[in-house]
Amino acid sequence: MKTQILSVTPQSLAYAKELIASGEVVAFHTETVYGLGADARNDQAVKKIFTLKGRPADNPLIAHVHTGYDISSLVETPPYTARLREKFLPGPLTMVYPSKRKVSSYVSCGLTTLSLRVPSSPTAQAFLKAVDIPIAAPSANRSKHVSPVTAQHVADDFDGDIPLILDGGVCTGGIESTVLDCTGKIPSILRAGLVTKEMIAAEVGACDVYVPQEGEKPKSPGMAYKHYAPSCRTAFFNKEEWENAIKCYLTEQGKGGTPFFLCEHSFVEEHPGLYALDLGETPEEMAARLYAHLRTGERCATLLIGIEPRQSGGVMDGVRNRMLRAFGQSEKRGARS
Ligand code: AMP
Ligand code: MG
Repeated sequence: MKTQILSVTPQSLAYAKELIASGEVVAFHTETVYGLGADARNDQAVKKIFTLKGRPADNPLIAHVHTGYDISSLVETPPYTARLREKFLPGPLTMVYPSKRKVSSYVSCGLTTLSLRVPSSPTAQAFLKAVDIPIAAPSANRSKHVSPVTAQHVADDFDGDIPLILDGGVCTGGIESTVLDCTGKIPSILRAGLVTKEMIAAEVGACDVYVPQEGEKPKSPGMAYKHYAPSCRTAFFNKEEWENAIKCYLTEQGKGGTPFFLCEHSFVEEHPGLYALDLGETPEEMAARLYAHLRTGERCATLLIGIEPRQSGGVMDGVRNRMLRAFGQSEKRGARS
C-alpha cells in the first residue's frame, strides 16, 4: 500500500471520508500528537487500529468529534462537565463519561465509559467535520514507541501500512491530552497533560489526581504500559547526579560512541561543548520538544542520556511523566543508568 501525506484540501478530505467509510484508518494532525483514526462505530475498523499499532487489547481508545457534534448522543454528561467543555474545548482535554454504548465496544475495551476529545487543530476539525462521525484514535505510533509530532514521524512508523496521513505540520502541544475521569462527583486526572489539575480545579472547585494502588487494575489502562521508548540505548540521571551523567557521557565517547544529553536549557548552558538535545526553558517548550528530540536522539545517538528536569508541578507533571517513562523510570525512582 502506498502511504500518501496530504495537507487539507477538498480533494484530500473527500479521500479521507471515502477511506473511513470503507473501514480504513487515516492518520491526522492534532494539537497534541498525530492520531491514527478509524470509524468508532465499525468493529473491524477499530480492531485494525489495535493490530496496526500492536496495542494491547485492554487499552481503550479516545473517540474524537468535531466542535458541532452532539455528544449527548454518545455519553451521559454530569452537570459540572458543561463548564469544563465551555472553558477547555476544543483543546487538549479528553473527558471520560458514562457511555451510551453507541460506538463499537472495542473502542472502550468493554468498559462502561467512553472517552471523548474535541481537538482544536484546524486539520483535525476539517477531517472530523468531513466525516461527521466519532473517530476512534490513539496516537499514531507503534505501541510503546515515541508518539509522533510530525507527519514524517507517522510515516517512519507506518509507511506502506496506512493509505493517508493528513498533514497539519508540527504538533505544537507536543504531549498527549490530559485524560480526565468525569464519572464521579469530582473530576479526576488519569493522565497529566497541558490542561492541569490547577486549571480544572479553578473552574469546578476541585480536581483529584488518580494514583493506582498496588495490585489494583488501573482506571486508565494505558498508564500501566511502558511507553514513549526511543529505540537507542538510554541512561537516566537525577538532577543532583549531573557529575555521574558527565562521566557516563565521556565513557561512551571514549568507546567511540556518540552520546547525546536530553535536558533542560540550563544544563546545556552549564555544560557547553557537549552534544545535547535542548528541551528549552518553560514547561510548554519542553512539552513541545520532548517527542521530536526523543526521535532525533534515536537516529543520532548511540546513547541518549536523560537528565531529570528541575521544574515540577502544573504542565511539568505531564512532561516529567512522559520523560521518565521514555527512559524506563517510574515516578518514584532512584538513580539508574
Ligand atoms: P492514546 O490514545 O495512546 O493517547 O491513549 C489513550 C489513553 O486514554 C490511554 O492511557 C487510555 O488508557 C486512556 N483511556 C481511553 N479511554 C478510556 C476510558 N474509557 N477510561 C479510562 N481511560 C481511558
Ligand atoms: Mg499513545
